[in-house]
Amino acid sequence: MTETPLLPLVNIVTTDLAAITRGRPATEARLASAAQTGVGWVPANLCLTPFNTISDPNPWGSSGDLRILADLGARYTTASTGSATALDLVMGDIVELDGTPGDGCARTQLKAAIAALKSETGLSIRATFEQEFLLKPNHRADDAIPAHAFSVASLRAAEPFVPRLWAALEEAGVEPEMVLAEYGNDQFEVTCAPTDALAAADRAIVIREVTREIARNLDGRACFAPKPDPDAVGNGVHIHFSFVDAKGEPATYDAAGPGGLSLHAASFCAGVLKHLPALVALTAPSPPSYYRLAPHNWSSSYTWLGERDREATLRICPVVTLGGRDPARQFNIEYRAADATANPYLALAAIIRAGLAGIAAALPAPPIVSGDPSIMSAEELARNGLHRLPETLDLALAELAADTVVKGWFPPRLIESFVAVKRAEIALMEGKTKLAICAAYGERY
Ligand code: GLU
Ligand code: MG
Repeated sequence: MTETPLLPLVNIVTTDLAAITRGRPATEARLASAAQTGVGWVPANLCLTPFNTISDPNPWGSSGDLRILADLGARYTTASTGSATALDLVMGDIVELDGTPGDGCARTQLKAAIAALKSETGLSIRATFEQEFLLKPNHRADDAIPAHAFSVASLRAAEPFVPRLWAALEEAGVEPEMVLAEYGNDQFEVTCAPTDALAAADRAIVIREVTREIARNLDGRACFAPKPDPDAVGNGVHIHFSFVDAKGEPATYDAAGPGGLSLHAASFCAGVLKHLPALVALTAPSPPSYYRLAPHNWSSSYTWLGERDREATLRICPVVTLGGRDPARQFNIEYRAADATANPYLALAAIIRAGLAGIAAALPAPPIVSGDPSIMSAEELARNGLHRLPETLDLALAELAADTVVKGWFPPRLIESFVAVKRAEIALMEGKTKLAICAAYGERY
């Protein structure tokens, strides 16, 4: 039998407001021109919901045209997913036909936030996205007892998923650090090395797509939804960040600072906490996101900076001094109120802008709180500056609508589109049970 020849294709992609990565394929021969003049794109695509509807109304209507410009420096390829051709992704930026940055491009917004932080403070941000997901298994019957949390059996029952994923991520160049069996039934987690903020968000996208493809090829499905079931352990996306100064030296740690935070890092955290009620609309932007953001889920539910506490929204992460390791080079903060329904570029851009506002206003370090806010008195909560995060997407959108500072960081049409998509999602979920909402998002993410 002769094999039909296949033409390998490169996918030039953009990730939209519903955090879906979409785009167009090109041949290798066409790639150089796609980097210069782009491939075609339709403005209203930005208002696609995860359910393949376009929010109506939206700021774009049926008219207009855009280009996705391929960023050849952000190409991620792996031939190890088990597919007939390599998975070859080139990240793209949405531009107008004359090359002006497109208002709706989240990746462009992240670039702008990185540049603003750099020009106003001299700091660069390094980041990594730690992502949890379920591997909906084909390897055991639905009613079989799941393997133990974190167990060797969990890893081995999924064979060859974990080694294949790790190999593919290595090959794609995203520097995987760990693929582990997590606490939840069938739950896994992937982490990768920190890098500059733009590449970190690119890597988050690549990891999702590679994971999904490998799962599909094993007749399973990877599910990154924040609560695949109301009773399931949540899937978080934890965004770790740290700073380096103009000389590339670590600038997050100060042994004498509160919790080890440098002056800039402390003000950055204060800015994030100040705008958090509105930020979560962008970082936890789906109805089921708020089933996860509840106390005792090890996720995040208060405007809370904590030291090594997994219930805090901003967690000061541990440092290892074993073997003489330098704390300053490891020190980082984790933003836990995000999930995979959020666009990683937009989420990180919003965090950077909020932190930068905190630095610009020289906000003092927030209190570092330990304990359980859900049982604290009103007086104790107030003293610690703790506020419960919005408990629904609807309430989070109201916080966003009220926070003119947060809205002001982004082009009005981007915010308008975002709100339109999210309102459409809320409408689509109207009247559905929690179970049905989790199932709907579980299928789409
Ligand atoms: N699954 C938890 C979440 O939803 C996180 C658990 C952990 O700390 O890794 O964010
Ligand atoms: Mg985890």
